[in-house]
Amino acid sequence: MNFADFYRQSIDDPQTFWANEARLIDWHKPFDQAMDYSRPPFTKWFVGGETNLCHNAVDRWVATRGDEPALIMVSTETDTEKVYSFRELQAEVMRMAAIMRSLGVTRGDRVLIYMPMIAEAAFAMLACARIGAIHSVVFGGFASNSLATRIDDAKPKLVISADAGSRGGKSVAYKPLLDQAIDIAQHKPAHVILVDRGLMPMERKAGRDIDYAAARERYLHADVPVTWLESNEMSYVLYTSGTTGKPKGVQRDVGGYAVALASSMRHIFCGKVGETYFSTSDIGWVVGHSYIVYGPLIAGMATIMYEGLPIRPDAGIWWRLVEKYKVTRMFSAPTAVRVLKKQPPEFMRKYDLSSLKALYLAGEPLDETTSEWIASALGVPVIDNYWQTETGWPILSVAKGVEDTPTRLGSPGMPMHGYKVKILNESTGAVCSANEKGVVVIEGPLPPGCMQTVYGDDARFVNTYWSNFASEQVYSTFDWGIRDQDGYYFILGRTDDVINVAGHRLGTREIEESISSHPNVSEVAVVGIEDKLKGQVAVAFAIPKNAEAIATTEGRLALEGEVMAVVDKSLGSVARPARVYFVTLLPKTRSGKLLRRSIQAICEGRDPGDLTTIEDPASLEQIRGVVKG
Ligand code: AMP
Repeated sequence: MNFADFYRQSIDDPQTFWANEARLIDWHKPFDQAMDYSRPPFTKWFVGGETNLCHNAVDRWVATRGDEPALIMVSTETDTEKVYSFRELQAEVMRMAAIMRSLGVTRGDRVLIYMPMIAEAAFAMLACARIGAIHSVVFGGFASNSLATRIDDAKPKLVISADAGSRGGKSVAYKPLLDQAIDIAQHKPAHVILVDRGLMPMERKAGRDIDYAAARERYLHADVPVTWLESNEMSYVLYTSGTTGKPKGVQRDVGGYAVALASSMRHIFCGKVGETYFSTSDIGWVVGHSYIVYGPLIAGMATIMYEGLPIRPDAGIWWRLVEKYKVTRMFSAPTAVRVLKKQPPEFMRKYDLSSLKALYLAGEPLDETTSEWIASALGVPVIDNYWQTETGWPILSVAKGVEDTPTRLGSPGMPMHGYKVKILNESTGAVCSANEKGVVVIEGPLPPGCMQTVYGDDARFVNTYWSNFASEQVYSTFDWGIRDQDGYYFILGRTDDVINVAGHRLGTREIEESISSHPNVSEVAVVGIEDKLKGQVAVAFAIPKNAEAIATTEGRLALEGEVMAVVDKSLGSVARPARVYFVTLLPKTRSGKLLRRSIQAICEGRDPGDLTTIEDPASLEQIRGVVKG
């Protein structure tokens, strides 16, 4: 079938289209209705059907592929490599599920997972899915304040964590940050399961903290059956940054997500049962949820979970894994490729990469140079794909599993099945003509797999995402884009205050709030500035309360270091600004709104735009001055 027809069917008759796609997974009880869009913009998928993500990812394959590899755990940080077959993975998941049940965790309870890239993190996610508990994975690079906000929103009964992560051979403590977060949070989880990797000493809180290894011993032979869930029950909450300082809990269902993953694994990622998939992301991000843990396993593939850097012990590490495990489909981010591009090309040539069929890149704009370089180095198609935490799977790409549609340099492709994408003029709401810049929006109903709502806050879901245009109710991606005359889309950056550092999504407001907590900062603006390697980096402009502190270069550097340390401590090093500049004035409108886009433009050497509403033009001169200096 050609893709145009396939896509048309998904839009013209979503009920039939998605009922067909739903056959890609196992159902315990068939659904009554594929789609219910009687209460827009909320969509229900596969109403009345009963299924389970863990069953589809693990148990389903045990019967036919029990001894075949399922989870391949590789850590170049601890020099460990272990392959779990589907049967072994099922046993580990049941052990974890049994421990969770012994602590009173049941269907609908939240479990917060704050873990490095270790196999136990995947066991924990799958164990939650198995018993109908709702997981909320928090990226290990986040620190206590970020963690506390999420604990208070998700109100987990249980937290699963570890002593430490490791980066570049150095241990990174997790447990003290977790303890601090629980101290700060209003909500107190009843229990904490701790995986002791032997990397760092841990203090245990009696009655609350449980040693995973000891508990696992008690449940070695656990047999925990799958809990069948109605398709629209919640599978997980994953927090992501937005315009306000308070992260949003992206809430996902069970059945719609399972079908969307199975469907995307087949049509976009062309995954085949028995092959190996390697995504270099982290379980703390949506790519880790969709395409490290659930997607590949649902497709009957082995999935590689990798803890370590792409260039350690040397820049050949990923390619060694591709050769060893005969990886057919690999998923990474442009920043990682730019890092590898700086390394000698021999590392890639040393290995037999003939198993590899395609490299998928997402998370941030893919520049043409990077794309061309990696495509010629690997000799396989490089497939850009554009999506968000909110959607759970690609919005734009090319579906090579349906038709061999050509890719176009600089474009992530065209709308995938189920997505009614349009570009609207920001102020009039009119549909943009070809090559005219506007806001990328999606008409409802959103396809299966997309967020159900903002966890615990339907009003925020509607107000944030669906209320940006007076003319019609559409879902806003908060990205600028254009569509060319042939239907290829191009993404041109965010319309809101979200920045993208090395594919990691960060809210500038959160960073500003953190910096403002420094006793010598009265006001601050954080913007994302173009960076050759990471795409963007965060840069802060702060007004010190006591200007004397920055009278000397030493004083300025000391305060800059202190501000960075505050961010490290509260949000985590992932959010640390690359530079903190000090000024006495910030560019604002007369009504007091920060002119972040003008600051950003000046830093990037562009025109600051319309300044008719600026309070004091001297503020921009200061920005220019400090950045040049
Ligand atoms: P996240 O929710 O962390 O996955 O971040 C989603 C945001 O990353 C999108 O709204 C875009 O701004 C950006 N993004 C993701 N994938 C791409 C891509 N392929 N090209 C350009 N921008 C992307």
